[in-house]
Amino acid sequence: MNDCIFCKIAAKEIPSKAVYEDEEIYCFHDLEPQAPVHVLIIPKKHIASTDEIMPGDLGLMGRMMGKIGEIASGLGLENGYRVVINCGEDGMQTVKHLHMHLLGKRKLTWPPG
Ligand code: AMP
Ligand code: ZN
Repeated sequence: MNDCIFCKIAAKEIPSKAVYEDEEIYCFHDLEPQAPVHVLIIPKKHIASTDEIMPGDLGLMGRMMGKIGEIASGLGLENGYRVVINCGEDGMQTVKHLHMHLLGKRKLTWPPG
């Protein structure tokens, strides 16, 4: 996806503050943090949203889920955290490249806005 900002971030065409990276996953600090710790975990492969996850992506999705604890621990989130995936218009998804928000270091209220 040529015009996808997160594809460009994953390809290092746009700068970001890296937290974790491997061949298929990238984690970086959110530009407008909504909590003292706010990072985004993305697949390097362009997947537009949770609606676009194909059966062949499920291994990758599992590996992304499996990295959350390790990334959270590295960011000092021993007291807990929240993982959010926004999808579509009502989910207020603004960047159409699947991403997990990992937020922590403050009490996260419920329900979300
Ligand atoms: P969402 O509203 O779920 O689509 O979240 C998109 C997130 O991407 C927001 O929290 C933005 O602050 C963040 N964001 C947008 N552009 C950048 C960027 N260039 N670097 C880091 N985070 C970004
Ligand atoms: Zn993309």
